[in-house]
Amino acid sequence: MLKGNTGEYIAARKKELNAVIMAHYYQPPEIQDIADFVGDSLQLARQAAESSAEVIICCGVKFMAESAKILSPDKIVILPCPDAGCPMADMATASELRKKKEQYPDAIVVTYVNTSAEVKAESDICCTSSNALKVVRSIPEDKEIIFVPDKNLGRYIQTQTGRKMILWDGYCPVHDRLTADDLNKQRKLHPQALTTVHPECQPEITARADAVRSTAGLLEYIKGSPAQEFILGTETGFVYTLNKHCPDKKVYLAYNDFICPDMKFITLENLALSMQNMETQIEVDSQVSIKAREALERMLNIS
Ligand code: SF4
Repeated sequence: MLKGNTGEYIAARKKELNAVIMAHYYQPPEIQDIADFVGDSLQLARQAAESSAEVIICCGVKFMAESAKILSPDKIVILPCPDAGCPMADMATASELRKKKEQYPDAIVVTYVNTSAEVKAESDICCTSSNALKVVRSIPEDKEIIFVPDKNLGRYIQTQTGRKMILWDGYCPVHDRLTADDLNKQRKLHPQALTTVHPECQPEITARADAVRSTAGLLEYIKGSPAQEFILGTETGFVYTLNKHCPDKKVYLAYNDFICPDMKFITLENLALSMQNMETQIEVDSQVSIKAREALERMLNIS
């Protein structure tokens, strides 16, 4: 049990360790507030690669901490709650992907960062929701693409690029749960609001939206829009981010419990304990790491 003020302990321990605390936009408000950097998956991956800190504390889910370790193999990467995973990432395994590659031996494998290190290692290039369009457009037209694992993001990219892709049957249970009925109810309640959604939502949702963007993209869109009210089709933690950055705008969640439970595992208390005990340190097999890093760096080089 920690004694005294938890926030003060975290600040002092961070200095002692030469650590940086990175948090995803879906983290609880108190974790976003204590972090040195808050961002989406692409921004966190970049920060991890560029950071001069010796220890990276990753307040997010496992695939994010793995990406940080892959991009910064000499640093200590800590995930405060080892159980914080991603159900979508669990929908694709390396052995399943190897079988798919045997079926389509000439295809390029584009893998969303929301995957395990082993799946990334089987991939040609990674993408995030921020850069998926750019990544797909960088692939020659005559090449088939296997897109892993989010079928909703994949379908959205198909509508934007006209590319046919072999889509994995995965999805984010949190974004996929938003239905057209939920959205219509909110639109009736707030007829003047613009509908802004994440591309992990179902095609019937993205087709109805005024803007489809990654979380970082939604922040820019809402900040820059002259509109005052927005229906938000993404995780509830992001409402806090938006309220901080654009306090004058009104944001309504597209459905009430738009919550990713895994993103809520980290608290100030277990963050402080993880820093005290240096747990849980993320390790990635060196051969897996080398291959996964190539796929991540190809993405970082084009976006
Ligand atoms: S919001 Fe969806 S994609 Fe993101 S960590 Fe949660 S389950 Fe995974």
